[in-house]
Amino acid sequence: MPAWDLFKNLNEYFPSKDNNILPVISSRGCPFKCAFCHNANVNVRKYLGPYRVTSANRIIDEYEFIQSKIKNKIGMINADSDYHLVSKDYLRNWCETMKKRAPNIKWGTCGRYSSMDLEMVEMLKKSNCVEINLGVESGSKRIQEFNCKVIDLKKAMIIGRALTKSKIFLINTYILGHPTETLDDLKQTIRYIRKIPASSNIVQIYRPIPGTPYYELSVKESKIQLFNKLEDWGTQGTLRDNINVSQIPDRTLVRYFFIINFIEQWKELYNRQKYNLRNRFYRDFWYTFVSNRFIKKLKEILESYGL
Ligand code: SF4
Repeated sequence: MPAWDLFKNLNEYFPSKDNNILPVISSRGCPFKCAFCHNANVNVRKYLGPYRVTSANRIIDEYEFIQSKIKNKIGMINADSDYHLVSKDYLRNWCETMKKRAPNIKWGTCGRYSSMDLEMVEMLKKSNCVEINLGVESGSKRIQEFNCKVIDLKKAMIIGRALTKSKIFLINTYILGHPTETLDDLKQTIRYIRKIPASSNIVQIYRPIPGTPYYELSVKESKIQLFNKLEDWGTQGTLRDNINVSQIPDRTLVRYFFIINFIEQWKELYNRQKYNLRNRFYRDFWYTFVSNRFIKKLKEILESYGL
């Protein structure tokens, strides 16, 4: 159990009267080793230890403990982590325990397309799961094989359709600009994003993470600058010091990034608000309404004109 008692006033983190979200740590590490991911870093593996996943009972103990300490009600447990839904047996046990001990609590999770099937979607639907995060990363078979995260794109499409039909908020994640990625690979990803049903598509430009195979390759090809100070690594990121380790020209990569995000973020906003209303997250609905990315951008533009 995390040291929740160290919080001076737990109540301030649960402001909604009867529908707060409790984030929990449902797993540590990941048994896979995708070439771009921090879980492929040897030190992460060494110091974080082997992959392990928490039981539903342990999470519900935590939920009950916190619920007993706060005055408002928790309506959802967010069990999203690096890799939560490790197998069908694990999910079956999780769903049965949730039904028995917390039947009215909604929950969110994450998994991998390669370990999902339609039976699992059915289990999620029947056990109050409302949100799931799954990584696609690329629509190009070549890039998938290159980064060791191979996904059957047709199967993912079927699962995506079943999840969205079940009104489970599906977040798919993608990376543009993998090492060696060509414009043709990138276009395959964009085409796939347009085809697969999803409530939200998070699309980012690749950022190198030290100690990972992608990083080593980028260093070997002199595509990235090495820093001596830890603080300097903070500048490595999308739209700050853009790093392009792919074979796509900088301007083309950034242009595709902006176009796809402009479309996807409107879609995410619309679907997120529908989700908030459906699940009675009224505070989140209001907060998203007054403080979404588009409003923030508009404020920045107005401020730049002194308005
Ligand atoms: S499955 Fe996900 S968490 Fe695991 S190594 Fe791959 S990207 Fe990282």
